[in-house]
Amino acid sequence: MPEVYTGRFAPSPTGLLHAGSLVAALASWLDARTHGGQWLVRIEDVDTPRCVPGADQAILQQLASCGLTPDSPVLWQSQRAHVYAAALQSLVQQGWAYPCGCSRKEIESAQAVSRHSAAFYPGTCRQGLKGKPARAWRLNVQAVQQALGLNAVTHWSDRRLGPQQQNVSEEVGDFVLRRADGLWAYQLAVVVDDAAQGITHVVRGQDLTDNTARQIVLQAALGLPTPQYLHTPLVLGAHGEKLSKQNGALALDLQTPQAAMSALNAAALVLDLPAVPAQTTPAHALDEWTALGRTPR
Ligand code: GLU
Repeated sequence: MPEVYTGRFAPSPTGLLHAGSLVAALASWLDARTHGGQWLVRIEDVDTPRCVPGADQAILQQLASCGLTPDSPVLWQSQRAHVYAAALQSLVQQGWAYPCGCSRKEIESAQAVSRHSAAFYPGTCRQGLKGKPARAWRLNVQAVQQALGLNAVTHWSDRRLGPQQQNVSEEVGDFVLRRADGLWAYQLAVVVDDAAQGITHVVRGQDLTDNTARQIVLQAALGLPTPQYLHTPLVLGAHGEKLSKQNGALALDLQTPQAAMSALNAAALVLDLPAVPAQTTPAHALDEWTALGRTPR
């Protein structure tokens, strides 16, 4: 049976949708429709301290105001701890995940010595905890790559940005699967759920591009398929800064069809799609953009 295109939008409910997140939502929806596929929504609420109560429902409402309704029931990551635990357990059994006892301070001083960027973990606990209590769980990237005969450099092709590559072990190191505070890491949850939802095509913001190689390694470790990736252009603030909930990007007001239409038109502009007249309904605008049959660019 030919593979059914399945795409998704996976917002973290740390606030309402802003101009940047609507671009990813619209692009993923249009790409799914253009391919005659289905479009799912997943609420990525694993990082509970950063989640805002009620933001999940408000985001779904915002999407609905724009005519973006999912084709299957919404999935909440907060309800899937058992699935993530099983995935971690299978990695531990293979000897591919290990507990890490390093404090933030210890990791920072190791980074200073190795002159690596702040994101890098030098594998201090790979050979054992040396009496320290276990805190986080990490993926032994080299062990996975060696056992599966994978290249140390992960190559992949972004549908918009073209060929990409990253040496995960040298540039990132053994990344976290379960955090020291017991919360599931984004990388593990996203990989497990993209596979569980049968996602064939990931369309998301360009700020996430750098996570893709890690996710590809983790997919291989868990025996899961790798989807196609497309990272959408970012919406920059007035001073060229990345828009994010953290730096106060304005939540979109989508209460009226006109407001939804102007937000959709702004998102369409970023995707190089023509504006539709302001009095058009969101549903009609989506039909017009779908009819153009274009890959987001
Ligand atoms: N939940 C992530 C975010 O809101 C997106 C994850 C993804 O699309 O892979 O930034």
